[in-house]
Amino acid sequence: MNYKVLYRGPLSSCNYSCDYCPFAKTKNTRDELLDDANKLGRFVDWIGDRSENFELLFTPWGEAMIRRHYQDAFKVLSHFKNVKKVCAQTNLSGNLEWVNEVEVESTALWCTYHPSQTSEEKFLKQCGILLKRGISFSVGTVGLKDDFASILSLRKALSKDVYLWVNAYKRKSNYYSQSDIDFLTQIDPLFKTNTIRHKSLGESCRAGMSSFSVDGDGRVQRCHFIKDKIGNIYEDAFFENLTNRLCTNATCGCHIGYVHLDRLQQYEIYGDGVMERIPRVFLDLEFGSADA
Ligand code: SF4
Ligand code: SF4
Repeated sequence: MNYKVLYRGPLSSCNYSCDYCPFAKTKNTRDELLDDANKLGRFVDWIGDRSENFELLFTPWGEAMIRRHYQDAFKVLSHFKNVKKVCAQTNLSGNLEWVNEVEVESTALWCTYHPSQTSEEKFLKQCGILLKRGISFSVGTVGLKDDFASILSLRKALSKDVYLWVNAYKRKSNYYSQSDIDFLTQIDPLFKTNTIRHKSLGESCRAGMSSFSVDGDGRVQRCHFIKDKIGNIYEDAFFENLTNRLCTNATCGCHIGYVHLDRLQQYEIYGDGVMERIPRVFLDLEFGSADA
């Protein structure tokens, strides 16, 4: 079995300032960054010492891949034999020289495009570096109405081989008209799945069994959305805590959660691309690029 692990250390800062985000232009102190680096180093060592296989996804509070310690951790992890996949959520704003030193086969990125923070040209240039290096990646964005033209333009400019997903803006109820939903579904054929907070109470979910979330102190929750501690990776016999569990939340509304909900059968869509959000089924893209 490959354990799917979401890592979120204490880092809480971002170089972008998206209106809807609590981490907009937040900063960490030097001591906080050192603490974050030490905790990340301990996690990397733990992974390297284990006999189990892992797929990893960094889901930071903010942007981690502009930090040297995350780039270095990524490089090391990608070369471990028991790491089948190492991924990170990133706004792709940082210097990408570090990707020259990763094991390409086990590296993937979940790249978010923020039209209010960067230009399409800059973002595509970064995507071009990943494509040249052979790194798998998805691109995603929030489906804000003000960004529809930018989203369409990016979809047309990206290769058809690159999946562009759209997260529904859920903070306002009834935000989308039917024509908005139709438009975004033509951009991302899987968009509708993200418009719903899926009923999950009492449902079977792999979170807590083959997938779990870990923080910088090794404290483990089954997922980011249920805060109960189910163990600590740095304690003996940690893996004995992982067992089949039914969801105790009423609903689940984020891809990194509901992708593990058995009823939705998302593993059949994403296959081995669950962590980096790359579907393995054929998607007929109405607004795909003409050059692919
Ligand atoms: S790039 Fe991501 S973490 Fe940073 S401000 Fe925007 S939404 Fe928040
Ligand atoms: S359905 Fe969502 S909230 Fe419930 S256990 Fe799974 S990931 Fe967590």
